[in-house]
Amino acid sequence: MVGAALKFPVISTGDILREAVRNQTPLGRQAQGYMESGALVPDSLVDAIVKDRLRREDCAAGFILDGYPRTIRQSESLEAAFPEGELETLVIGIVVVDDVLIRRIAGRRSCPKCGKVYSDSSLSGQGEMKCDECGTPLVQRKDDTAEVMKERLEVYHRQTRPLIDHYRKRGWYFEVDGGRSVSEVYSSILESVKSYRERKATGTN
Ligand code: AMP
Repeated sequence: MVGAALKFPVISTGDILREAVRNQTPLGRQAQGYMESGALVPDSLVDAIVKDRLRREDCAAGFILDGYPRTIRQSESLEAAFPEGELETLVIGIVVVDDVLIRRIAGRRSCPKCGKVYSDSSLSGQGEMKCDECGTPLVQRKDDTAEVMKERLEVYHRQTRPLIDHYRKRGWYFEVDGGRSVSEVYSSILESVKSYRERKATGTN
């Protein structure tokens, strides 16, 4: 949704990795164990996927990264992929307290065929859970179980959260309250982009 509004391609490392696992490609076979246990896939693998994807023509005017970078090393690899000063960065952190996150994720389902994701709120009251795009019965992601979720949260707090300070210090970080409805979160994200662009235009950053 945000990608369409800004006319940028959305690149989700999680989606790319899940597709590789579904197709059992060499990358998918290497990533699967890490993903199913809630650990991060090694930086070298993920960095290579992103670098390769960013070389494509549709990224020339800009792109949205979803779920990347997740470690300080990944952020360094991203910057190193561009000539000095060429990469203009806006980072949006969507913040949700852990217990709300766990509840939402426990209710989330996705289509094993086309990958479309259904939030707990979009499914409530729905009898049979089938994909409205392709009719395939929906499933729960293997890493959305309570046990794996606990590990993913620990990994987030240990390895990913330090990126907030890293980007905040550089004035590139905007925080959005993700505890609200999808449309409210969506509007706040677009507001953040607007203030970032205004700041750029007036040279206040
Ligand atoms: P996500 O869909 O973003 O929640 O990602 C699902 C899983 O894919 C994560 O728990 C990791 O195992 C792996 N993954 C996705 N993005 C990254 C990344 N940037 N670095 C390392 N592992 C990742």
